[in-house]
Amino acid sequence: MTSGTLFPGRPPASARLLLFRRDRILLNGGEVFWSARTAGPLLGENPQLLPVAEDCFAADLSGADEAESRSLRSLLFSESDSELELLSRASQLVYWRRTHRFCGLCGESTRPGDTDRVLECVACGHQFFPRINPCVIVLVTRGGEILLARSARYRSGFYSCLAGFIEIGETPEQTLAREVREEVGLEVENIRYAQSQSWPFPSQLMLGFLADYRSGEIVPEPGEIEDARWFSVSDLPNIPSSNISVAGKLIEGYVRSQRKHEQ
Ligand SMILES: [Zn+2]
Repeated sequence: MTSGTLFPGRPPASARLLLFRRDRILLNGGEVFWSARTAGPLLGENPQLLPVAEDCFAADLSGADEAESRSLRSLLFSESDSELELLSRASQLVYWRRTHRFCGLCGESTRPGDTDRVLECVACGHQFFPRINPCVIVLVTRGGEILLARSARYRSGFYSCLAGFIEIGETPEQTLAREVREEVGLEVENIRYAQSQSWPFPSQLMLGFLADYRSGEIVPEPGEIEDARWFSVSDLPNIPSSNISVAGKLIEGYVRSQRKHEQ
C-alpha cells in the first residue's frame, strides 16, 4: 500500500470502487467497477472504504436494494484475471470487515487502523488482521491413473481432487496424508507441492499438491464422499475447469505429462 490514507472517508475522484451487498457484487450498468461519482449516491454520508489495491476500494452497503447484483461465483467465467483478482480480494476484505465488527476480547466496536490493513478495538486496542484459511488440494496418481472423488454437494457426474482444511498444528503435508486417509482410506507418498490459488469462498488459500499412491483400497468416507475411483488419464469424467480452479490445473498438468511420457 502506498502513501495517503489507507482507509479514506471519501473515495478519491480517481478511485475505482467495488460495491457489495452482503456477498453479492453490485453492478454499475453491467460493469463491476464504479467511480467515485457513480457510487456517490449509494455510499451515503460516511462510507467505510476498504483498500483493495492502489486507487481501488471496496465498500459493503446495507441498502442499495434496487441495484443489480451478481454473485462472485457467477463472475468467475466472465471477468478477466486481473479483475477477478481485485474482486476476489475485495470480497475477502468485505467478509473480514463484516465478521469483525466487534472485539472478541472485550465486545466493543472495531475500527480500521491508521497505517496498516487492520481492524482495531476502540476500547482495548486489540488488532484483527484479515484472515486466510489454508487448505490443501491433492491429485493422487498411480501411473496412468488419477484418483478423483465426488461429494454429494457436486453437480451430477462431476468429480474433483480431494481437499481439506489445514488444522491447527499441522503442516500441509500432514493434512494431505490425513485427508486422503480419512476420505478414501489410502496411503500416499512422494508428496510434492505444485501450485496455489486464492479462493474467495469465503477466504481460502488453496495449496495444490501431487502425491503418489502407496497402498490401500478405496473406501469412501460415509457422509463426505459419495464416490471415489481411479480414472485413466485418457478417460476422465466431468472435472473442474483449469481456467478457474487449481484442481483443474493439477489434473490438466498431470494428464499432459502422462501424454508426453507415452510418446
Ligand atoms: Zn477489545
